Amino acid sequence: MAGVHDGASLRSALVEIASDFSFTWIAETRLLFNALAPRRFAELHHNPTALLSELTDDDLGRRLTPEYLEQLARVQGRLARDRGDETWWRERHGPDDLLVAYFSAEFGLDESLPIYSGGLGVLAGDYLKAASELGLPLVGIGLFYRRGYFRQRLDEKDRQIEHYPLTDTSRLPLELVPMAPVVELADDNGELVPVRLAVWRVRVGRVSLYLIDTYLEGNPDWAVTDTLYGGDRANRLRQELLLGVGGVRVLRQLGLEPTVFHLNEGHSALLQLERMRELVEEQGLSAEEALERLRASTVFTTHTPVPAGNEVFDPELLRQNVEGLVERCGLAWDDFVVLGKVESSESGFGLTPFALRTSEHANAVSELHGAVSREMWHGLWPERRVDQVPITSVTNGVHQRTWISGELEQLLGDTEPRFERARDLSPEQLWIAHRAGKQRLLDFVATTRGVRELDPDVLTIGFARRFATYKRASLLFSDPARLAALLADSDRPIQVLVAGKAHPADDDGKDVIQLVVDFARDLAAASRVVFLEDYEMTLARRLVQGVDLWLNTPRRPFEASGTSGMKAALNGVLNCSILDGWWAEAYSPACGFAIEGAADDGASETEQDEADAAALYAVLEEQVLPAYYERDEAGLPQRWIALMRESIAELGPRFGTARMAAEYVERLYLPAHENASRPASRVA
Ligand SMILES: *Cc1c(COP(=O)(O)O)cnc(C)c1O
Repeated sequence: MAGVHDGASLRSALVEIASDFSFTWIAETRLLFNALAPRRFAELHHNPTALLSELTDDDLGRRLTPEYLEQLARVQGRLARDRGDETWWRERHGPDDLLVAYFSAEFGLDESLPIYSGGLGVLAGDYLKAASELGLPLVGIGLFYRRGYFRQRLDEKDRQIEHYPLTDTSRLPLELVPMAPVVELADDNGELVPVRLAVWRVRVGRVSLYLIDTYLEGNPDWAVTDTLYGGDRANRLRQELLLGVGGVRVLRQLGLEPTVFHLNEGHSALLQLERMRELVEEQGLSAEEALERLRASTVFTTHTPVPAGNEVFDPELLRQNVEGLVERCGLAWDDFVVLGKVESSESGFGLTPFALRTSEHANAVSELHGAVSREMWHGLWPERRVDQVPITSVTNGVHQRTWISGELEQLLGDTEPRFERARDLSPEQLWIAHRAGKQRLLDFVATTRGVRELDPDVLTIGFARRFATYKRASLLFSDPARLAALLADSDRPIQVLVAGKAHPADDDGKDVIQLVVDFARDLAAASRVVFLEDYEMTLARRLVQGVDLWLNTPRRPFEASGTSGMKAALNGVLNCSILDGWWAEAYSPACGFAIEGAADDGASETEQDEADAAALYAVLEEQVLPAYYERDEAGLPQRWIALMRESIAELGPRFGTARMAAEYVERLYLPAHENASRPASRVA
């Protein structure tokens, strides 16, 4: 705080804080910016850099009260502690020369940087935050989409419409790195054209994330990193080559020599070609040796059993782009194409099989998803038994400090073992903290969406996620009469908050949104079901801190992990979920609810949906409602609070990114690093 005495010096202190995405996990930081201009801050999607750019030094000078300075000092103290050099990694005495390059097509760090669409990106963002906290030597590589993922509105017919506002780089804490690596991409006639990359550095505590885009003078206008997952197949491939091949070139120009390459999903998998080219051209290895070498030091995480999530490209499109690169790797074209096949008869080139064949260390993201993935990719190792298919699992986690409510964080403190401390809290303390988050959510719904009828005493159910078909957002609405009875019950009513985006090309998903909203309109208890537009990280945070029950109804086994339920669990918001993804290993009757539909193996989708819907209503009626509405003399739901306490104490630490990152280090990175450090001839 030393030196802050006027608007200008306050500005430089605040700019310093805003320049590091650690503002996303230090709750007081957000309050610091919020206090400057609450309404404008919300309008700016809580972007502190944008807010500062709109305030003059005089404006800032007027905010300079003793209380504000004290608040600022607390944040600065917290930041200094966060940047100190006592870290888990240092204590662990890992190898000095380990460096992990972590590649992902999306990163969800904060609402203000909209380069994520859902769970995959939020996981990657949370993971960088954990790497910073643990002091892990890791560098992130991603793409900077100028329009990112869309902002959602509903039109007067309740149909989703998408907006793609252009991100103004001068209003984000991005630092342009002076370099311009080149990647050759095929234009629409199949001719290779050099494309120059712009590289932005993003600070995430101790970790740097480098984002690539192509908005440079002289670049062809088709070479776009415009929207996330936008454009046709050709554009998608271009983006993935920019990420993968371009990403490796960025690392080299930065002078970085990662010993481990971690592919977060298959989008970046073609980076293996660039690494292979280096080994062959620059180190004189044979194609075979080079492949072995890069396999040994690669970690690949597969994230979904849904076919659309496992990308396949037309080999001809691929040939236009990478034929030359493949040749320089010393690989015959046909031998390369085989690396992307599951069955030899298939015609497409799959990024997941390619990534699996070029990574010695592969993992799925929950125990159940591990079993499903081994089954799914068994065709790559036909000589092995299914349980010996080399795909292990590391269950996802969430960055707790990003997602925990301020009230709960205060009660639990920030030293370990934080979450276990929930067992020492009195039921009143826990309930009061929870009610504060709930009130904040209801106030938000009232002021921003104009719905004022929600009642803090009513059991509030949250359902928010991408409207992908397998997530079955409509399951709760499948028996309208039964749901209407629950909503309108005079003794034990419920209210439901729904949010989520459908992929722009997914008309079925948009139909479901429309169905949910129309349903809410038709009901007598209409204002008891509310759809909240534009689901993103800030809204997610409000929801997982403010509802009572977090509902999750995927069609098993398609939810690889799911992470929003973890965010809810650590806040004492109880999960009520199909036993899929993480919940299959997390659930116990002491900390939440299971929806166990009784469909047989081999049941049709319709039969499965019917069985699961019946089970869902039964759990709500027979377990959830009685536990929530049973009150003691003091009006406290003791049974419910006991479940909340176990949810926080038991699930909070188990499903955090610190546990997850430590598992990646011990089980995947260190073996890969050891491989990479051996002389080439001994790698096998
Ligand atoms: C956590 C999160 C997700 C992922 O939630 P799932 O449970 O995996 O569906 C998606 N979107 C946002 C904005 C999130 O914060």
